[in-house]
Amino acid sequence: MSLIEEIMDFNHKFVSAGEYEQFFTDKYPEKNLAIVSCMDARILDLLPRALGLKNGDAKVIRNAGALITHPWGSVMRSLLVAVFEMNVHEIMVIGHNDCGMQALHVPDMLDRMRSRGITNECIETLENAGIDFYKWLTDFDQVEDAITYSVNMIRKHPLMLPEIKVHGLVIDPITGQLTVVINGDENAIV
Ligand SMILES: [Zn+2]
Repeated sequence: MSLIEEIMDFNHKFVSAGEYEQFFTDKYPEKNLAIVSCMDARILDLLPRALGLKNGDAKVIRNAGALITHPWGSVMRSLLVAVFEMNVHEIMVIGHNDCGMQALHVPDMLDRMRSRGITNECIETLENAGIDFYKWLTDFDQVEDAITYSVNMIRKHPLMLPEIKVHGLVIDPITGQLTVVINGDENAIV
């Protein structure tokens, strides 16, 4: 059975049995919270469990590395929608130890693209057109530095309200233990 067949099969049983009832909520996050975190599969379920969050509590945006790299990119847009349309009052950027983006080596990834059939000509054309792969693929050395960068991107955004609390945290992808890097209660401008 292919993955899509397996998932559709499970889904049919899930809906028929009414299992969705335990997830009933509305679109406004009950804890007035938005989270930016990493796409790492180890924290798919661990992150909300370790934070004590249930369905309906928070808006969650995930990407590779929990990074906000552009003030007008999709993560920042989502956060602004969360604040102005969804009653979000607090934002948590939650990175994690042992992140794939820490180990990302851009020349190796470009080599992997070439070995999978992306031509060197294509890569060079993109570079000549102004795509800086080193900047765009955004690896980082220290997760705390990446979190601080993203928190500052949010706090300094011209459309972000100063009273919104912005926190930065690291989660251990094995134990779920949280460490506070930036406590937004201390730096919020109320
Ligand atoms: Zn990660």
